[in-house]
Amino acid sequence: MNYFAYSVSGYNADFATTQEELMERLSALGFNINNLNKNCNNSQQLIDNYNNIYNSRPTLSYDIDGMVYKLNRFDWQQRMGVLSRTPRWAIAHKFPAERAKTILKEITIQVGRTGALTPVAELEPITVGGVVVSRATLHNQDEIERKDIREGDLVILQRAGDVIPQIIEADKSARQPDSQPYKFPEICPVCGSHAIREQDEAVRRCTGGLICGAQIVERLKHFVSRQAFDIEGFGAQNIQSFWEDGLISEPADIFKLEREMLEKREGWGEKSIDNLLNAISEKRKISFVRFLYALGIRHIGLGTAKLFAKNYKSFQYLMEKSSFDELISIDGVGEKAATEFIEFLQEEHNKKLIENLLRHVQVEDYEDNRQQSQLTDKTVVFTGSMEKMTRDEAKAKAEFLGAKVSGSVSAKTDFVIAGTDAGSKLKKAQELGVKILTEEEWLEIANNI
Ligand SMILES: [Zn+2]
Repeated sequence: MNYFAYSVSGYNADFATTQEELMERLSALGFNINNLNKNCNNSQQLIDNYNNIYNSRPTLSYDIDGMVYKLNRFDWQQRMGVLSRTPRWAIAHKFPAERAKTILKEITIQVGRTGALTPVAELEPITVGGVVVSRATLHNQDEIERKDIREGDLVILQRAGDVIPQIIEADKSARQPDSQPYKFPEICPVCGSHAIREQDEAVRRCTGGLICGAQIVERLKHFVSRQAFDIEGFGAQNIQSFWEDGLISEPADIFKLEREMLEKREGWGEKSIDNLLNAISEKRKISFVRFLYALGIRHIGLGTAKLFAKNYKSFQYLMEKSSFDELISIDGVGEKAATEFIEFLQEEHNKKLIENLLRHVQVEDYEDNRQQSQLTDKTVVFTGSMEKMTRDEAKAKAEFLGAKVSGSVSAKTDFVIAGTDAGSKLKKAQELGVKILTEEEWLEIANNI
């Protein structure tokens, strides 16, 4: 395998102060550096460079789907900060997708982890952008109706990078006279339960829950996936066949697998059994964030799991003490995530699932490796407007220094940083006796660490 190095994990001020310098350092250390990297000074140069690379794309010895612009100076990157998933100092500029025409033979329905019915177009295989494509996503019922996509249609599809190919439209002039609009199923094709659409939802969901084989299997697949338990060598196909043969039906069962259960299975030699059992054993200790994410609760992705972990530190504590009000008071946690989590815990079978799992798995308390400062683990609230930095910059800075930034003042607030025109939050802080800092005092702390 070959790769191009382009970043160093963690804060890299000692290693380099700009992206350009970083690339030089990496290159000097013997890493492979992509020679198309370029330092540009204005947007025209960016566009010119984009066009150059786009034109030379067919001659490259590897596939690319676009490029990324990064702010060169690391101190400016830090100043711009990061949204929950994406930095503000970098942006992708994709190349246009490649397109092709083929026959849509059939629309099949996949049932996901949360019961969502996803329509998939089964295609007459065709090459798009150098890859043979035989399936494409159709997203949901509305999408099919809006585009009036039917089985038997000649369709135009596109593929951009490694994204799943998409159907753009059907060629309606090529349609047979007996063609019928597609009728989206109202029962789950896997378990036969009703599939319903809730208000304001584009997705139709199977109501089968734990009796739905598809949902069970998808949850198990999610559980072992890379960002969750990341059990090496335990892929989607193993999950499927282990479940079909009754070896696993809930996450805890994975940790109850034994040599004798696997010995007679086709394709499983002593070595591969050893490897799997070892890989499972290694995950008997797991981080709070991975554990929570692995449960596969709707609206609780990695970002939200991390926010929960940061605030509660121990999973046990989260289970016992969290309430809806407390969860939504965490900056960045929305009502949907809080509702789903509380509802999840109210279900007896979910509690049982976690209990069973905790007999085999130890969840480590959340520890963050951000630098220690006067603000580490302190809860701060910003109010009013600042002169020297925007609210978002101030927030990013505070988080970088280890503080929790909250949107509202309570007895748990450690500092309120009051800019000009501070209103009700300042008043509340005064009433509660919370320490109040002026912008100057805040800058003093923020810049002197
Ligand atoms: Zn179902």
